[in-house]
Amino acid sequence: MRVAIVGSGPAGFYAAESLQKAAPGIAIDLIDRLPTPFGLVRGGVAPDHPKIKSVTRVFDRIATQPGFRYLGHVRVGEDVTVDELRARYHALILCYGAETDRMLGIPGESLAGSHAATEFVAWYNGHPDYAGATFDLTQRDVAVVGIGNVAMDVARILAKPPQALAATDLADHALQALASSQVATIHLIARRGPVQAACTTPELRELGELEGVDVVVDPRDLELDAASEAELAAMEDRNPAKNLDVLREWAARPLTGAARRVVLHFNASPVALHGSTRVEGMTIVRNRLESDGRGGVRAVATDDTRELPVGLVFRSVGYRGKALPGVPFDDRAGVVPNVKGHVVAAAGSQAVVPGLYVAGWIKRGPQGIIGTNKLCATDTVTQLLADVAAGDIPALRDDLPSIDALLAERGVRVTSWSDWQTLDKAEQARGAAAGRPRVKLTNVAEMLEIVAANR
Ligand code: NAP
Repeated sequence: MRVAIVGSGPAGFYAAESLQKAAPGIAIDLIDRLPTPFGLVRGGVAPDHPKIKSVTRVFDRIATQPGFRYLGHVRVGEDVTVDELRARYHALILCYGAETDRMLGIPGESLAGSHAATEFVAWYNGHPDYAGATFDLTQRDVAVVGIGNVAMDVARILAKPPQALAATDLADHALQALASSQVATIHLIARRGPVQAACTTPELRELGELEGVDVVVDPRDLELDAASEAELAAMEDRNPAKNLDVLREWAARPLTGAARRVVLHFNASPVALHGSTRVEGMTIVRNRLESDGRGGVRAVATDDTRELPVGLVFRSVGYRGKALPGVPFDDRAGVVPNVKGHVVAAAGSQAVVPGLYVAGWIKRGPQGIIGTNKLCATDTVTQLLADVAAGDIPALRDDLPSIDALLAERGVRVTSWSDWQTLDKAEQARGAAAGRPRVKLTNVAEMLEIVAANR
């Protein structure tokens, strides 16, 4: 049995682990387009959250099991097609995540100075695709739209004193840019109220613990409407009540006149960005909340608008999955349609695509923490193993060149797990020299040079 997994983030590694537990020694090729593994654990988790990143130790163990290979620097869909992979593996598990972002769909959104939060995150985490991105940090007023955990990360990285960031593995280019940042006020724009805030309490609380930062909360925003009261009373999840406690404490806290402020705007939605060549302001509308009739609460715009003088905007309203050539795609949901992880021809269809599976954000959408992917990947592998037991796995073509031969013939410079270990050591050595945990390599050509020099 040979399985290929596309994408070396948490879902990919947990899928490999689940296969290894069921069939020790199973041949697994984990394919990633970068020579560096770990997906969003490397390119998404905030640099000042090193504990969350320590999950890579679990992934290291998975990668050193017999039968496991890392095929880095291989772009599925470009260097090799999905069909070519399907012909060479009994099963292919797609775990390539949600690579792009959602837009707000408002006028002015394409002006310079308006960015996806996901780009900023990829930039400060040293993702090679975004190493050359620029953000105008000379602006004093910045808006972050959305109040999920990504919005928390972005607001915190913008607000945090540079000396606190120097102790992290934040990309060097970002450290330099943030050290001379003029950002003074960060407006967090939440379209609904505090009860509906998507962020988790530890992440929210961190904003109020930053040195040199005042958090501004209007106590009137914390007076709950009837729909929110009812929703809160019916909730099993304690997170919203805890968020509310944190916000109430902040609302009562006197401002210190700190150089930086995070201002929370609840029940507010951006309706337009303005500017002749770049963002010079944002119109927000006040929303009222009402029951959606299904136990939830929705925002409805009023005609009460106001201007915010922001020069930089990050929309943080969710990631979005992308289609991969040769794989069905549900464009509405931004996921690969599937039943229990088995890819189907279209959303709502029961017609499975033999040998093709999905796990992680490209299976279920961009929600959940790292650990959520463990259950998600295990469910997919359980389905895959049931298909194997039922004899529903396609036979392999034996008249084809191997995957290694195919990639070599195309001149693809595939990197291995031991190559990643070389890169890892190089990053840590650069970090030690600079008094930092690591200095990330952000250029693929340079990574390949280091790999070649150390083989
Ligand atoms: P998220 O948690 O889904 O939050 C998205 C936010 O965008 C919500 O506040 C949502 O508001 C808002 N939004 C959506 N559409 C909008 C629109 N058209 N206008 C205004 N606001 C809009 O997504 P995320 O922050 O991208 O995070 C993705 C996942 O990664 C989450 O599960 C998150 O917990 C996880 N994550 C975890 C950590 C951590 O554990 N430290 C760090 C980062 C990310 P509504 O609620 O009103 O829809």
